[in-house]
Amino acid sequence: MRMASGVLREALIDVDAIAENVRHLRRLTGVEVIAVVKAEGYGHGAHRAALAALRGGATRIGVSDIDEALALRRRGIRAPLFAWLHAPGASFAEAVREDVELGISDIDQLLRAGEAAQGDRPAAVHLKIETGLSRNGIAPADWRVVFSEAARLERIGRLRVVGLFSHLSNASEVDDRAALAKFEEGVVLAAAAGLNPPLRHIAATHAAIALPEARLNAVRIGIGIYGISPFDDRSSADLGLRPAMTLRGAVAAVRRVPAGTGVSYGYAYRTETDTTLALVPLGYADGVPRQASGRGPVTINGRRFTVAGRIAMDQFVVDVGDHPVAVGDEAVLFGDPTLGVPSAREWADAADTIDYEIVTRIGARVPRREVGA
Ligand SMILES: *Cc1c(COP(=O)(O)O)cnc(C)c1O
Repeated sequence: MRMASGVLREALIDVDAIAENVRHLRRLTGVEVIAVVKAEGYGHGAHRAALAALRGGATRIGVSDIDEALALRRRGIRAPLFAWLHAPGASFAEAVREDVELGISDIDQLLRAGEAAQGDRPAAVHLKIETGLSRNGIAPADWRVVFSEAARLERIGRLRVVGLFSHLSNASEVDDRAALAKFEEGVVLAAAAGLNPPLRHIAATHAAIALPEARLNAVRIGIGIYGISPFDDRSSADLGLRPAMTLRGAVAAVRRVPAGTGVSYGYAYRTETDTTLALVPLGYADGVPRQASGRGPVTINGRRFTVAGRIAMDQFVVDVGDHPVAVGDEAVLFGDPTLGVPSAREWADAADTIDYEIVTRIGARVPRREVGA
């Protein structure tokens, strides 16, 4: 297959796949889906991921930080937005003005949220309680104080507590159940303080699928909406999900070489016979992990090869043997493996990481092109 002329490299983003993945997970879990589009939608583009997720039935959009939420508002996303990781000491005024819900992890953040209330608009918050992950979240020793202050601020109209939430470790089912039990203690204590928020959420993709009792009344789905499995032993297809990103480039040079030819920096690969080398214009600047040198898979014209030698900043070389390959042919690094191309998981394995990192780190230099819808 030929790439369109003029295209060097691109990431195809199938927005229908995102919408369908959300629809599928919404049906599976039976609760509200908060679609997580932090970090530019795990590399897929936050705005397009948010639009597709809302089309698929998500009712709220989650991001890590307020700037990400404000960028989505500016681009016209009207759905509820929720951000949970904040700059120390920063004002929440703009977030409240733009109707961004805040994850609150300590008393200082709670008080700042109360101060950011404007006129008759209270700050909308989700209180995050620590249940074992050891990241942020209100420590159990502080629950009583924070809950009663939140209830007071709610009574005087400066705060609206929309949710209580936490995050799981996925260390084991036993650990996740223990965290869930801890969470329920927090819910009871919050109710005793007068807080009965409409939303309770603890599950990300992994627990939303594997631990039904963790679904509560909302789930925060990130990796699943992009069609990638968070399980070591279950593929996207096993879960009924379709990967949304295909990373590909146009073969930029082809060279016939004799046996013994060194390839790329350090000559870490040498040809064993007369062979053909194809140059693929994607490198570590584009997010292709150098760690996968000599190991990463790629399909060219539907045939599977392995990276030969080191991955450089902008490019890598593939030894295609005697298979016919021409400049302009399509080289696919990963996409939907049911279509015969490698998966992001294979690149993750080759680079000793997880597929979350593979898609998220695809660089800004790679144009995203939407397909579907
Ligand atoms: C990133 C994140 C999620 C989404 O996790 P996935 O495993 O991608 O579904 C959910 N909640 C929080 C707090 C997160 O940071």
